Order: sequence, then C-alpha cells, then structure tokens
Amino acid sequence: MIDSQPRASSTQEVVAELRKRSAFVFVSHVKPDGDTLGAGLALGIALRHMGKRVAYFQQDPVPRNLRFLPDADRVAREIPADFPSDALWVFCDMSDTGRAGEYLPKLDRANVLDIDHHLGNTHFGAFNYVLSDECSTGTCVLRLLRAMDAPITKEIATNLLTTIMTDTGGFMHSNTTADVLRISAELTDLGADKEEITEKIFANKRIAAIRIVGRALAESRLEMDGKFCWSLVDEKMLMETGADGEDTEEIIQHLRSVEGVDVAALFKNYDGDIRVSLRGNGRVNVQLAAGRLGGGGHHRASGLTYRGTLADAIVAVREAILAEGL
Ligand code: AMP
Ligand code: MN
Ligand code: MN
Repeated sequence: MIDSQPRASSTQEVVAELRKRSAFVFVSHVKPDGDTLGAGLALGIALRHMGKRVAYFQQDPVPRNLRFLPDADRVAREIPADFPSDALWVFCDMSDTGRAGEYLPKLDRANVLDIDHHLGNTHFGAFNYVLSDECSTGTCVLRLLRAMDAPITKEIATNLLTTIMTDTGGFMHSNTTADVLRISAELTDLGADKEEITEKIFANKRIAAIRIVGRALAESRLEMDGKFCWSLVDEKMLMETGADGEDTEEIIQHLRSVEGVDVAALFKNYDGDIRVSLRGNGRVNVQLAAGRLGGGGHHRASGLTYRGTLADAIVAVREAILAEGL
C-alpha cells in the first residue's frame, strides 16, 4: 500500500524494498557533482553484486573530472528499452524531481525512492530516506549498505569517499565531523584512494578553467560593508577563455574566502537562465535565502535558477540575503 502523504522511511523499510525489487534506475541531478553520481554508482554496484539489474539515468554528461569513478561509463540519458516497468527509480541528492531535468520519463510514485541529505527535501517518493545530518547522500547510502551487510568493494569505497570529499570541500566545510573522518578512514582501509580522488577531482584542471577563475575573480565586487562578495560568468567570458560551465565550479569558494565576507554569490549567465550559487559562513542561512527565490540547498551552500535579467537577479539576491539577516 502506498501512502498519498509524503513521509520518511526507516532504514529497515528501505532495505526491505531494495531486497524485494529486481531492477533499479539511479537518477542524478542536472549539473551533476560527485555526491549525486557517487552515491548512485556505489549503491548500484552493490545491487549488481546481489544479482539485480541496474541502470543510470542522468540528463547531463558525466563531468570530465568524475569520469574516473567506477561504473561512470554506464551513465546515460536513455534507459534500455527492455528495462522492467516495475524498476525502482532511486533519486540521489535532490530535494525534488525537477532537479533531474526535463528528460525524466513520467513515473509512478510507487516506484520512487528518494535518498538525500538536503534540508528542504519534499519527500517526493513512496520511500524517502532523507537524513539531513549526513554530510553527503553517499553516507546515507553507506548506512543502507551496512544495514544490508553488503560487502564494500574498492569500487564502492571510491565512489563513497568521493561523495564525502566533494560535499565537504575536501574535508574543509563545517559538515566534516569526527564521524565523517572516521568513515573516510574506514573507506580508505577498504581501498578508496584519497590521493587519486584529490588529483582527479581537485587538481586536474584545464588551463581554460584557471583562466575563467581569474576572469571571474577580477570582476568580483564587495558590497554591504564587505559582507557580500559576488561575481559573474557570462557567455563572452567563457568564449574568451575557452572554458565551459564545468570549469566554473570553484570560483564561488574563492569569493567566500575573502576576509569579512558572510555571503558570496556567483551569477552564471549562460545557457539560457541565470543560475546563482550562494555560499555562507553560517551567519546567514543561504538555503532560506535561495528558498525565497525558488531554490534550495544547505545552510551554507545553496543555489537557485533565476528567470529574468542579470540586473534583476542581482537585486533579488541582495534582497533575499538581507531578508535572511545579512
Ligand atoms: P551549486 O552552487 O550549484 O553547487 O549548489 C549548491 C547547493 O544548492 C547544492 O546542494 C544544490 O543541490 C543546491 N541547489 C543548486 N541549485 C539549486 C536549485 N535551482 N534548486 C534547488 N537547489 C539547488
Ligand atoms: Mn549535489
Ligand atoms: Mn549532496
């Protein structure tokens, strides 16, 4: 029986469902990161070892710096035509199905499992495993694997450690608790190679990526008594540096690292809509600020998509962070 009301599922309920089903489709969010992808790949590998059928649906291509992840080459925008209709669709690391993009087929809610750690998760599945205290969706998956007594291979450990390293900013963000470090040590003992993950994800940049960072930092503005730092990337800057959207990921952390800055924003004005990344130091809740404009995320890291002009987006974001107490 399926509840019509959204609700949280226990570890045991989710494990029972994973055991019961024979086929799974893992769904990651648009502009995928190491968490959405690594969490699904890890659980998918474990389920394949249990003899289950597994596919991966992702609207966008796998980012260059994540292609080394075990099984990343199985990710596609299409699901095999003969895939069972009663497969369980497992959404990883997203608050609502809209984050999966426009190519997602229409799904029966009874076949949806939502695994996530976002505060504003809408519990859109029949099964919702949403643990907002976890540092990554990958560590939610680890809880499930342990409850299932599933062997954690080197490939699974690599995917899981990647989810932690990307969502903690390489163990720097405040979500890096003692438990997170312990789990990371265990995953390292199981064969995850921290050095490889660091090299492939954080130290493997194209020269165009370095140049777009430089361009965006040169454009940065400091406002509100130095508490708000923002910058932008537009089509012209991308063209002139030869960079693409994947090369813009680290700009926001530089803006946030300026002394005295409580909130940083990066306006990405290309590919149609304006996408805004927000980062805070904890004083202002940027998840609530993004929420005022239809976005979401976490207390210190959030994002939103703004439909309108860049000038309007900047005004709207200023108002939202002021309203949240900047
Ligand atoms: P980003 O700045 O794109 O790295 O995103 C930071 C955080 O905000 C992530 O946890 C995302 O899941 C979340 N986020 C980004 N864009 C959106 C959006 N349009 N709607 C909801 N959450 C978002
Ligand atoms: Mn994510
Ligand atoms: Mn995440």
